[in-house]
Amino acid sequence: HATEGPGGGVIQGSASEAVLVAVLAAREQAVVKYRELHPELSESEIRGKLIAYSSDQSNSCIEKAGVIAAMPIKLLPAGEDLILRGEALKKAIEEDVQGGRIPVICIATLGTTGTCAYDDIESLATVCEDHNVWLHVDAAYAGGAFALDECADLRRGIDRVDSLNFNLHKFMLVNFDCSAMWLKDANKVVDSFNVDRIYLKHKYEGQSQIPDFRHWQIPLGRRFRALKVWITFRTLGAEGLRAHVRKHISLAEQFEKLVQDDNRFELVAPRALGLVCFRPKGDNEITAQLLQ
Ligand code: PLP
Repeated sequence: HATEGPGGGVIQGSASEAVLVAVLAAREQAVVKYRELHPELSESEIRGKLIAYSSDQSNSCIEKAGVIAAMPIKLLPAGEDLILRGEALKKAIEEDVQGGRIPVICIATLGTTGTCAYDDIESLATVCEDHNVWLHVDAAYAGGAFALDECADLRRGIDRVDSLNFNLHKFMLVNFDCSAMWLKDANKVVDSFNVDRIYLKHKYEGQSQIPDFRHWQIPLGRRFRALKVWITFRTLGAEGLRAHVRKHISLAEQFEKLVQDDNRFELVAPRALGLVCFRPKGDNEITAQLLQ
């Protein structure tokens, strides 16, 4: 909010809410745009054609956002490395456009829930730009590691996304709930959600330095979550927070080594940040028992 640009950030309660806000805003933007292009179509005809995309490795909240937004979200097959790439998205969009559908948004993940895989944001961004599709990145878990220089690679391509969320209540030591959401053009959300009443009017309306966050979220009222972020940051400092993330990573490295040195177990996916995916060797029944 400190610059002249249209971008902005807001603290939502959860990653699920941030994703839902992005999905709803992208949907409304698409309807407005398509109505201008095709005035012969009714609004309900347009809404019936909308379609969104994510990976089959994305968090359940993505599918849920599709249910709430009444817009199908296609869960595209990630590669064998569990990464979603532009190629798969391009194929799906082209098929859908041919079938008369209207692609609206792709939700990529940086740090999937299952294995902390990172979708290929650069190639997905290229496809989204070509087809005028909103690109949202859910970095609920891994986003905290963006603060580390040695993890700079994880941020590749995020300058090209339309919106992004990460949970401060995961890696950043802030108490639940606290999910930071960033938007390249906040007007798109505000325009989509702006519903006014006389009792909501005030003299500072329309000033970009004083955003009305009720237009950026589902509820009208807001909790003062910024206070606990401020206290956490002031108490630990940037270096304290980085040290915490590094500690998680080093503990995971240690655990990964224990798994590798024990011939009863094997790694299922490469270690990523603080996550080690492993299983007992042999029949899946043994894994199910261990999980139980
Ligand atoms: N996205 C990812 C990648 C997650 O790992 C999770 C939770 O584990 C979520 C979204 C959901 O987060 P929240 O509980 O903040 O909605």
